[in-house]
Amino acid sequence: MQDWEKDEIVIVDRARGNYLYDVQGRKYLDGVSSLWVTLHGHCHPYLNRALRRQLQKLDHSTLLGLSNTPAIELAARLLEIAPRGLGKVFYSDSGSTAMEIALKIAYQYWRQDKNKKYRAKQKFLTLSGAYHGDTIGSVSLGGVAMFHALYKPLLFKTIQIPTPYRHYGNEPDLSAAVAELEKAFKKHQQELAALVLEPLVQGAAGIYTAPAGYLAAARRLCTKYNVLLICDEVAVGFGRTGTMFACEQEKVSPDIMAVAKGLSGGYLPLAATLTTDKIYDNFKGQYESQRTFYHGHTYTGNPLACAAALASLDLFRREKTLDKVRQNISLLAEGLRRFETIPQVKSVRQCGLIAALELPDYAYRDKIGYRICLQARRRGLLVRPLENNIVILPPLSIQPRELSWLLAVLYQSIQEVVGLATPSDQ
Ligand SMILES: *Cc1c(COP(=O)(O)O)cnc(C)c1O
Repeated sequence: MQDWEKDEIVIVDRARGNYLYDVQGRKYLDGVSSLWVTLHGHCHPYLNRALRRQLQKLDHSTLLGLSNTPAIELAARLLEIAPRGLGKVFYSDSGSTAMEIALKIAYQYWRQDKNKKYRAKQKFLTLSGAYHGDTIGSVSLGGVAMFHALYKPLLFKTIQIPTPYRHYGNEPDLSAAVAELEKAFKKHQQELAALVLEPLVQGAAGIYTAPAGYLAAARRLCTKYNVLLICDEVAVGFGRTGTMFACEQEKVSPDIMAVAKGLSGGYLPLAATLTTDKIYDNFKGQYESQRTFYHGHTYTGNPLACAAALASLDLFRREKTLDKVRQNISLLAEGLRRFETIPQVKSVRQCGLIAALELPDYAYRDKIGYRICLQARRRGLLVRPLENNIVILPPLSIQPRELSWLLAVLYQSIQEVVGLATPSDQ
């Protein structure tokens, strides 16, 4: 906070396409998609029009005991594109709440098991390096020490296994990873409610990438050991990895799936937790059975946010977004190669239109990631570090020449900063 007070903060005043403009009129390429949410660019005419139209009709109305048209239409559209087997949508307004809902549904599902056989299934199997949000329940599922360690006494316990996802010093091996996972299933089968994971990539840990086949194996084991699979698609949903949802890449259908970030195209806070009909049906019963899900946030299913999300899904079709993303993914892969020649960059990782450059030989106090990002900002590029990782996460709508420019600026910025800095001696 002390450093933050001394920093020169960029105050954003307006935006257009892939660029933000500050109060001084300086222009920045949005290399973090305004924290992983902007898909089609800022102030997109089609999205703006859709929001204006919705604004003429209905601003807000509660989803508690009522419904509204955009919320219904969006639920139907989400189920059309979601992995097969998902049949119901529960709205909220952030990734954290979507995950709180996921874990409460999973817990309650087993607690109200009709023949009482599975009521002991109350624990969650999680991975180190996981990030599922900043509220206490989602922090409990998480495993990023820097964010989570302090709060440990406040959290509920999970069964955590070491992450098999790739990062510096951790070259994963699929068969070993799957064996480790199965060991945990075998040992804890009776008490496990769900396995929780970020499909394909652990984002906030520093963009750790999963060994190919791990997600499919996790699905197989969940089915075999009668444990629910909760997939957190908050970061990777909506085209980020080249398919609409990351789960598709390993043909996986989770039992519960959380989406947020890109859901409204980066316009308004909106999230959803999708479940199978089987899970939903477990919550039905006579009024006095109280099998209902007592959970609701005030702005749940906000019509403006839902209208933005509907328009965003339209744009995927109108602008052939996924085709463009796949081109950008190849360009990014090509462009990342040259970072391998900088000796300080020890690990280059990519999953779809997400990448990280890891510079691990620096101490926390060197603020190496921060300094590189500051250097990039001076050149008009906004990116953010995750500790010693420089994260590249541009809007899906980034143009090839903008992507080349982004990588060139990062290359220069890294060279300038690591050329000046000496790695800390402790
Ligand atoms: C960002 C994120 C969350 C939390 O979303 P918020 O909207 O910030 O609460 C949860 N899970 C993953 C994988 C995320 O990247």
